[in-house]
Amino acid sequence: MSINSWGNYPKINNNSIKFNTIDDLKNQLKNHSEIIACGNNRSYGDSALSNNIIQVKPFNKFLDFDQKAGVLHIQAGVLLADIIKYFVPRGWFLKIVPGTKFITIGGAIASDVHGKNHHIDGCFSESTLEFSLMLPDGQIKLCSPSKNQDLFRATCGGMGLTGVILDAKISLRKINSKFISQTTIKTENLEDTFAAFEKYNSEKYNFAWIDCFARGKNLGRSIMTIGDFADDGQLDYIPSQKINIPFFLPNFTINKFTAGMFNKLYYYQTKQQISHQKLDLDAYFFPLDGIDNLNRVWGKSGFLQYQCILPKETAFVGLTELIECISRTKLGSHLSVLKKHGKANENYLSFPLEGYSLALDFKMNNGLFKHLDHLDQILQKYGGRIYLTKDARVSKQVFERGYPNIEKFRELRKKYKMSQKFNSLQSHRLGL
Ligand SMILES: Cc1cc2nc3c(=O)[nH]c(=O)nc-3n(C[C@H](O)[C@H](O)[C@H](O)COP(=O)(O)OP(=O)(O)OC[C@H]3O[C@@H](n4cnc5c(N)ncnc54)[C@H](O)[C@@H]3O)c2cc1C
Repeated sequence: MSINSWGNYPKINNNSIKFNTIDDLKNQLKNHSEIIACGNNRSYGDSALSNNIIQVKPFNKFLDFDQKAGVLHIQAGVLLADIIKYFVPRGWFLKIVPGTKFITIGGAIASDVHGKNHHIDGCFSESTLEFSLMLPDGQIKLCSPSKNQDLFRATCGGMGLTGVILDAKISLRKINSKFISQTTIKTENLEDTFAAFEKYNSEKYNFAWIDCFARGKNLGRSIMTIGDFADDGQLDYIPSQKINIPFFLPNFTINKFTAGMFNKLYYYQTKQQISHQKLDLDAYFFPLDGIDNLNRVWGKSGFLQYQCILPKETAFVGLTELIECISRTKLGSHLSVLKKHGKANENYLSFPLEGYSLALDFKMNNGLFKHLDHLDQILQKYGGRIYLTKDARVSKQVFERGYPNIEKFRELRKKYKMSQKFNSLQSHRLGL
């Protein structure tokens, strides 16, 4: 059975390789000329797809926990969900979590994922103290911000193209509740939304859902949520139950009409301008995880996520143009999420930079790539970039203009002969 990414696009036949020991992995690297590591396949596009895929998920032991320093040592296949399940009842939480907890530590480092607190805490690499990396020749290097710094900077955000991450030490934060105290703010348009982000900039977690169908004076209206852990001592966390989508839904289930309806309903079901709520951490951080196989609602042809980021100087005007284009063409995304980001880090290919990112889901169809090329043109005009872990189609030229450190990355790949071993569909498409 072939492995697919979360977006179920593209699909290729591949050979899935498991390993039990480090020596086993070394031999597998020796025996295959082209290979890429995968975690739990929650990346949307083609970054974890190749003819030969090494499955790291079964390599998933907890190795050590330094209670005093809050430092956890784990193998790279451990899921964030397993860390949360074990550590929340003990009063600890991950410093950075993306919108799903079903990703591995290796995947979190390789995409240098960010959460709703990037403006304060940065990316996953900012909570990563060190990791060990297997290079193409089987050598293992310990990498940290001070040891083998070039490998650290290239691997965090390097989409598996520098080697196989084997284990990592990450630092956790103390918490005193399984609940989040959340405030919801309803905004009328993009200007209002930006003003709310500025006003609540010192809040730990914040993000906004944008109605991408609204136009004119309502363009960019949103429901914004801000929050942080409560302080009520309730740590009896039990992971939320999930409902399952057992098969791919028919192609007509998701369309422009349902997307438009969903956006309107979501906006109007929030009645008050400002409201407060206490909710379980799963409901706050990972609402999409509540449905197992959620990606099947898009049908067998799959879907794409378009996530881009614009620098703070051009974000308002650039996003206005992007959202206008999306609402005019009725490209329509069910879920459109806007986040404010803090300063970029020094990793060569990490996605976030100081500004605003927008994530949009689009069902795969014949005209989609043309529309997205048009969004790319707007993005380029305003100095933005695309997130590699969501991508399956951006051109080499658009990608390169967004990532000024790409040559450093390529040089390092050459130096360690990584480009002769670790490759994905994405690395070929983008000449990484
Ligand atoms: C519902 C949903 C919400 C999401 N929300 C966010 C979000 O808010 N913020 C965000 O940043 N991301 C988000 N993502 C994306 C997701 O966090 C990343 O794609 C993450 O990298 C997936 O991890 P994984 O373990 O599934 O890795 P995979 O998808 O299997 O692989 C992703 C990349 O990591 C590499 N890789 C995996 N394991 C290793 C390893 N051991 N060694 C070397 N390379 C490795 C692969 O080669 C590939 O390039 C979301 C995804 C979903 C499905």
